[in-house]
Order: sequence, then C-alpha cells, then structure tokens
Amino acid sequence: MTEPMLSVEEALEQVLSAFQPLESERVPILETPGRVLAEDIYADVDIPPYANSSMDGYAVQAADTVGASRETPVPLLVTGGVPAGYVAEKELTPGTAICIMTGAPIPPGADAVVRVEDTEATGEWVNVFAEVEEGRYIRPAGEDVRQGTLVLRRGLRIRPQEVGMLAALGHKEVAVTRRPRVAILATGDEVVEIDAPLAPGKIRNANSYSNAAQVIACGGTPILLGIARDRVEELTEAIRAGLEQEVDLFLTSGGVSVGDFDLVKKVLAAEGEINFWRVRMKPGKPLAFGHIGDVPVLGLPGNPVSVMVSFEMFVRPALLKMLGMTEWKRSIVEATLVDEVKQKDDRRHFLRVRLEREAGEYRAHLTGGQGSGILSSMVKANALAIIPEEWSRVPAGARVRVMLLD
Ligand code: AMP
Ligand code: MG
Repeated sequence: MTEPMLSVEEALEQVLSAFQPLESERVPILETPGRVLAEDIYADVDIPPYANSSMDGYAVQAADTVGASRETPVPLLVTGGVPAGYVAEKELTPGTAICIMTGAPIPPGADAVVRVEDTEATGEWVNVFAEVEEGRYIRPAGEDVRQGTLVLRRGLRIRPQEVGMLAALGHKEVAVTRRPRVAILATGDEVVEIDAPLAPGKIRNANSYSNAAQVIACGGTPILLGIARDRVEELTEAIRAGLEQEVDLFLTSGGVSVGDFDLVKKVLAAEGEINFWRVRMKPGKPLAFGHIGDVPVLGLPGNPVSVMVSFEMFVRPALLKMLGMTEWKRSIVEATLVDEVKQKDDRRHFLRVRLEREAGEYRAHLTGGQGSGILSSMVKANALAIIPEEWSRVPAGARVRVMLLD
C-alpha cells in the first residue's frame, strides 16, 4: 500500500490539530528563564512609583534659573538634601534649592533639576550656571510602566529582562506552562547505546540524544526509553512501558520508511490509530502520526539529519503549542545561496547552510554533504535554506529563503 503524499503544511496542520496548551504551574521567578508565561501580567503600580531625579544635583524651580550661565550665575539658598530612598522634609520655595541624588523623589514645589556639574556650592548657597526648563532631569511617575497596563502577555518566552520586570512589579512567583513530557524511543538492531562497545555492524544511538536536546531547547522534558530491537514483542513492550510514564507526546525514530523492514509501523498500527505519510520534503519524507490511547505519537525517520529536520518541522511547533506559545515560526531571511544545487525530485529541500552577513547581504553556504545521514553538515549549519518543490536546478547566486536555527 502506498502512503498518502502530503505537503509540509498539510502534515503540520494535521499534527498541530492534535495538541492543546498544557496546564500551568507557579514557580519562583528565577526558575522561569526559558519558560513560557501562562498569565497576563498587569502593573498594579506605576514604575517608577514617584517622580524622581535622573541626575545628582539640585532640585529647583525652573523659573529661578532663567538667564543663568557661567558668567551670570544665579545664587539659590540650599534648604536641605534628599538622598535616594528618602523623601524631602520640606517643600521647595522660590529662590531656594534642595540637594538631590539620582533616584530620589522630587520635593514638592520643585519642577526641575540642575546637574551638579552646572553648579558650585558656597556655604549655604549654590551658584547655578545653567538654565533648565520645567521637567528637566525629572523622570515622571509611570514613565516606564503605567499602573493598570498589560506589561507581559501570556505565551511569551521569559528572558532575563522579563524576570527583571516581574521583580519590579513585585512578583516572587509567576504562572508558567508546565513542561511537556516527551518519550523518545530509538529503534533498530544496529543501534547501540552510546557507552556500549561498537561491535561490527553497529552504530551509536545519535537520534535519541539529538531529539532529547531539541526537546530541552523547546522547554520540554525528554524521557529516554532507550533502544528497541526490531522485534514485535520488544517494540510493543517498549512502547507500552513508555506510555506508562505520563507523557504528552511519544516519539520514535527509524523503521517508518517505505520498503523498510517496517516493524515499527506494524507495531504502531497495532497499538493505536496511526497514519503513515510521505511528506513532500527532504530530508525526512516518511512520517507516522496518530495516537495510542490519548497520547499523540510521531514516528520520525531514522536517518540522523532526517530525524532532526522532521522534529524541527513538526515536533517543535507541537511542543510550542503545548507550551501556550502563539508564535512558533522560526525567523526567515532572504539570502543568496552561494553554491549551485541540483534537486532531483519535487520535494521541498531543506539544505544545511551556514548563514553569514557579507558585503551588506545575507549569504548562505552549503555546509557539506546533504545526505540524510550526514550529521556533520548539520553540526556546521546554523540555518536551513528552503528550496521550493518546483525548482529543479538552483544556480549559484539564487535568492532563497533561509530559516534560522539558532
Ligand atoms: P531506518 O528508517 O530504521 O531504516 O533507519 C534509517 C537509517 O538511520 C539507517 O541507516 C539507520 O541505521 C539509521 N538510524 C536509525 N536509528 C538511528 C539512531 N537512533 N541513531 C543513529 N542512526 C540511526
Ligand atoms: Mg531501522
């Protein structure tokens, strides 16, 4: 039986429709970098909470400084001082000044600050050498954030600046989406664990680890189920054991391609409701997708680059949707593809490239062999150049769309 051929978009749409945002949990803000905010954060105060000085100097009435210069200084009587963290004891009256530090509240009656550089103190008096207009060097209350406004929207990925904002708004803890739990099962008689000796005919399990790292990079928790040999009983047992670990998604690699000794397909089909697709993409044509019980399952291809690119196209969007993110598209730039490429079939090719900014434009260089098993060219790549299905030959210097990976 031949499997249906789907475009990348059709496959992604079907995959995404099976996922919903997960529940949230409250965590201390220092545990939130990289997590996804699960509540809207409104400001319950102005930031800064009060008008304050942006300079060390003297709080004054701007009108008193009219005409002040080095040649014609204006003397003002200094009636007090206000360091950061305190409030002025008295009101400022015309003809007087109050010494003020950066961040200290503007005393009532004052409407500007003269920088200390533009003054000279003499006993109880200060000579002002510069004219200031009303509001000069005053940071008004709410200049940064106005009370009542929506400051951080649910669904954003928290970075250090968001942590700072949460702290400024008085949040010790905040709601983030819980991490999706992703089971990862490698398959194949030839695949051995990374610390096992490499006997003849064997290769190490790269896929489980690259996929696990991709899960971590998305903000999920990988659960490595090891390697199942190509035996019905062993595959069945490994899948059932994995499903007992309360996972939100089950990934397998290998055993789903056409003409394979396709035991993985057979077992997946026996255990749940699974569709087997050919996706019009390269690398990564075969894809299994469905459910076992209520757990979504994605059967990814076995070749080390195919598995990573398939993850990138289908699993990452699913994880970000589970995390409650509204945007899961990678940044795309237009670039000049430096090398010539021949495209043998009408699949969308994702070429491993190194994107560089050269002579005022983005240029994409192939990073080496583009075979689905050439992991080293993935290692050298920071982006994937997208070659449309209908192109057959891509001449050197063609303009292409390039998807950033980092
Ligand atoms: P398959 O689809 O199972 O025939 O796998 C396709 C290719 O990927 C074969 O060359 C496998 O040896 C290789 N492969 C499968 N699983 C892994 C794995 N976990 N790590 C590295 N290579 C793998
Ligand atoms: Mg296999």
